[in-house]
Parts: sequence; structure tokens; C-alpha cells
Amino acid sequence: MPKVKKLTEILANKIAAGEVVERPASAIKELCENSIDAKSSRIIVEIENGGKNLIRVSDDGIGMSVEDAKLAVERYATSKIYNEEDLFCIKTLGFRGEALPSIASVSKFTLITREKDKPFGFKISIEGGVIKDACEIGAPIGTTIEAKDLFFNIPARQKFLKTTDTETGHITDTITSFALGYYDKSFLLIHNKKEAKNFPSATTQIERVKDILKIANSEDLYQIKADAPDAFVTGWTASPDYYKTGSKGIYIFVNGRFIKDRKINYAIFQGYKGRLMKGNFPIAVIFIKVPFQQVDVNVHPAKQEVKFLREKQVMSAISEAVNSALKAGEKILISKYQNINTDQAPTIAPSFEKKTEQKYQNARRPFVYSANDYAAEDIDYVNRQNELSEPPAYYGKTAQKNIMPDTEKHPDIKVIGQFLKTYIICEKDNEIILIDQHAAHERILFEKLKNKEKTSATASQRLLIPEVLETGFAEAEAIKSLMPDMLKIGLEIEPFGKNTFAVKAIPAFLSEKQTAPIILDVAEQLIEKGGGKQIENVLDSTLILIACHGAIRANKELSETEMKAIIFELFKCEIPLKCPHGRPTLIKMTQKEIEKLFKRIN
Ligand code: ADP
Ligand code: MG
Repeated sequence: MPKVKKLTEILANKIAAGEVVERPASAIKELCENSIDAKSSRIIVEIENGGKNLIRVSDDGIGMSVEDAKLAVERYATSKIYNEEDLFCIKTLGFRGEALPSIASVSKFTLITREKDKPFGFKISIEGGVIKDACEIGAPIGTTIEAKDLFFNIPARQKFLKTTDTETGHITDTITSFALGYYDKSFLLIHNKKEAKNFPSATTQIERVKDILKIANSEDLYQIKADAPDAFVTGWTASPDYYKTGSKGIYIFVNGRFIKDRKINYAIFQGYKGRLMKGNFPIAVIFIKVPFQQVDVNVHPAKQEVKFLREKQVMSAISEAVNSALKAGEKILISKYQNINTDQAPTIAPSFEKKTEQKYQNARRPFVYSANDYAAEDIDYVNRQNELSEPPAYYGKTAQKNIMPDTEKHPDIKVIGQFLKTYIICEKDNEIILIDQHAAHERILFEKLKNKEKTSATASQRLLIPEVLETGFAEAEAIKSLMPDMLKIGLEIEPFGKNTFAVKAIPAFLSEKQTAPIILDVAEQLIEKGGGKQIENVLDSTLILIACHGAIRANKELSETEMKAIIFELFKCEIPLKCPHGRPTLIKMTQKEIEKLFKRIN
């Protein structure tokens, strides 16, 4: 007798249900997907006892004819794809034709549906995969699907269901993600006959996004819009001042499908680079549109993951899009502290060079200060002065750009003073602003190092007597691997016998006595993180370390000019509002907030 036998359809459906229907929330996900595919504008989800006793999803979509409804509950019956070609060009949320038969095989299932132009609806009842009843019935236009007593016929699976609260939590998350993806549809969740979630249809996406991300102020949401060749990326990123300690605040939609994807999470992270503290996760909603042929959605049993044909391009499009959105948002934030917007700053042209120079001098004057105290800026200043008086032979466009970019833009903030020798207090219009002098200077130095690293033109100071450094074996190996990159930022290290190095030159803003501790710190970090693959990241953290060592400390008295210089340089930075570790450089309080605290207003 042969051992191999074909499964009955009911058993096959139950097995499929194991993949598709893990818990009430997954059944609800499938049913909502069907409602959306059916062009519904209103979707109501009713549940009892966390969906364990009852799930009912009603929509006002296109409904089904009697024939279609009968077929729809059979395995592999779908109206969404007809051939192999369609499978690789999926435009709908569903496509496998598995959800309805799967759910019907593990519950007491009823489908009621009516098409728009039909006088009657149709009802079909199924229990554990066996059809019990099918008849015409009066019904509203659209479809209602009910699944009672989920897994009543598979006690082994029923045991795995969690508490009502947990299951309800999963369902709420599911509805919330649909609501984010489809702001123009209304979603209502009713639990034990009480309203649990209500998303009335919104006219703009940001309304929905604000509601769900719990961000009251639209200014704290930056709009993403990027049209890269391989992906059209839109959505919203929250200001990095909002964050979570896990990835739950990240919502990703690919061609309208809500998915989870660690690689995309990472791409979003990259976009936020330098703005979030370690361990913090961004809050963002990202809609990625890719040509249907360039994404495989048939790679996960619950359709929660996808595969991109041009993955690398899509990922960098996402990072870029997020980064630009944040930058644009930050620019708006700081533009009110600057009297002239850089965008309007003319590029240098001979006809007005004189005028510009005049302004340049004016702008610079307050930022001249005593040496030593503020070495980096001084050197920068001196460099610029030299460049001004003695243009290099190859006086090209880029050289010009470096010389006078800031003439048209300088901070328009009144410096009030210093608090605890650590924070610079300023005022602007109706705001009081506190700047963390160390964090701000760290950001300034970091960006200088990073940019100079790219142009390999770092101001370096030669040490009169090279600093000789003895290290352990592992440190020595690490230092050797970093040497070429360090040279680019003006840190010249040479091997000097076994596990010994001579430091011959250091970035100009560092003081000689800092040399040894920095190099050892850098080496230690290299050992910890390991070089190799993530060299870009290791390099970045090395620059952060050097910036941190070089930056003015807290508890250091600053003159007004020095304070102004910091503000001036800070606002020129690419990411001015965060130090390279992701801490804020600046906090503020508005007149309104202060008046509230003094109970002048409510
Ligand atoms: P799939 O969504 O993969 O096609 P399903 O088992 O989820 O498979 O649904 C089978 C078919 O039933 C669908 O292709 C669709 O034609 C029809 N259907 C299911 N739900 C609805 C609904 N809410 N409104 C209209 N038609 C529906
Ligand atoms: Mg479906």
C-alpha cells in the first residue's frame, strides 16, 4: 500500500491557515486587505474577547456576485492574478487566494456580500471548512465577513492564543498601520461593543500621521519627497527630538503594503545619522513606490516582507530621502536665527566682490579673539585671511566657495551671557535659547574634520618633538590600520619600533598634551568595533572622538566674541542641532511657555 496520500482540501486549508492565520490580528489583516482591494472607503472591525470569540470585518466595497462568493471560499481562488506574468507584477494586497478558505477552515465563518447593482445579497456559512448554508439575503452594499471561535476545531492552536489584552494590542497595531497607509479611508475598531479606535477619513495625510504618531505640532514632522530612479519615496520623519527605544515608531509601506524590513530600518537610521543618541530609534512613516515588476511580494507567508530587485538603489534612495527631509526641516528651524538666508546668498562674482568683502570684514570682526583659548576657530580664521590675501594659483570655483560662503549669513541672535560656564544663553524675538558650548563645538569640529577629510586639506601642526607612544600589541595593530585615514585629517603617526609610534603632527586645534590620550582612545575604539567592513562608521566615530577631545569643555568661561563665534560656526554646520553623538546642541523656550509657567496665561 502506498504511504503517500493526497491531503483532503479541508486539511490542506487548515495547514495553510497555520501560515496565514497565526492569531486574530492576522485574520483581520487579511480581511482588511481584501476590503481595501475591493475599493472600500469605510472599514469596520468588530471583535469580542480580543478576537478570540468574534471577528467581524464589514466594508462598503464592490462586493461579490453569487458565483464569485462561492468560488472565493475555495482554495486558490482569486480575482487578483490570473497567470504567472501577473504574479511578478502584483498591484493588489492579496493575490494567493488563500485567506478566505484558510480562515473558514479554522472558525465558524459567515460571508455576506452584495454588489452595487444587485437587489439582493448572498450569504454563505461555513464551519471548520464545511459549507453549512448558502442563500440569498437582504444586505447593504459591500461585504461583511465574520469568523467566530477561531481555532475551535484545533485546540492545539487555540492554546497558543494570548490574553485578550495582548491579542487586542496586536489587532490595534494592525488597524493602526492600515489607517496610516490609507488616510482617506475610515477605520473603526469596536471591542466588546465599545469603540476602541476610530480613524475618520482624513483629507490630508499629515492629519492621520500626526494623530497616529502622537505628534501634535506639524513643525516637528518633516516631509519626505524624493524621486530617485528606482524608488519614489514619500512620507514623514519626526524631528529627532522624538524617538523610541525600539523600531515600533517606524512604519514602512511598499506600494501600499505595510511591511517590516530591517534593511529599510537601517536605511532610515542612516538617514538620521548623527542626529540620534545611541540606542534611540527614529519615528517615521515611509511610503516607497517601486515599479511593480521590481519588487517580489511573494516571499513571506503573511506577506510582511518583500524583496527588491534593485535593493541597494532603493536603500540609498531611502537614506537620501530621509536625510534631505531632516536637513530641510533643520534649515527652516535655524533660518529664523539668521538674518539672511543662505539660499539667497549670491555666488561670488567680481562685480560685487568688494561689497561682499566689506560685509565679510564686518561679519568677521566680532569673531577675532585671543589665541589658544579657541584654537580651531582662530586657525580657521587665519587660514581664511591668508586665503583672502593670497589666492592660490588654481583659484577655481571651489576655492572661492570655501573662502566666502558665510559672508551673507550670520546669526541674528543676541547673546545674553553664559550659565554655569557651560551654556550660552541667547535671545531671539520671543525665544530664549540655551546652547551647550561643548556639544556645539564638538559638532563644529566634527564637521570640519569630516569635510577636510574629504578634501585632504587639514590644517596640521608639526610637533617640535615627536610624541613617542608605546602601546599593547592589539592597539598597535589598530593604529597601523588607521594611519592613512588619520593622515588625511592631519594626524601623522609613524611606526617607531615594536608597538611604538611617533606622532609627528596633529590636527591644529588639538593641544600637544592631548595627543597621547586621543591616539590611545582611538585605538581602543578600533579594537572594540573592529575595522574592516564598517570602516566608514569606525572613521566617523574616530573623528567624533577627536572632535570631543578638541572641543571646549563645559565649565570654561567664554568671552562674548567666543560665544558669538560658536554660534556663527554652529549655524554653518550641516546638522547644527545635534552634536555628533546625537545630543542636542540647542534648546529653547518660547515666551508662551515661560508665560505659562508664570501663570500669566493658561
Ligand atoms: P486573495 O485576496 O488573495 O485574492 P482571498 O481568499 O483573500 O484571496 O479572497 C478571495 C477573493 O474573494 C478575492 O480575490 C476577491 O475577489 C474576493 N473577496 C474577498 N474579500 C472581499 C471583499 N471584502 N470584497 C470584495 N471581494 C472580496
Ligand atoms: Mg486576500
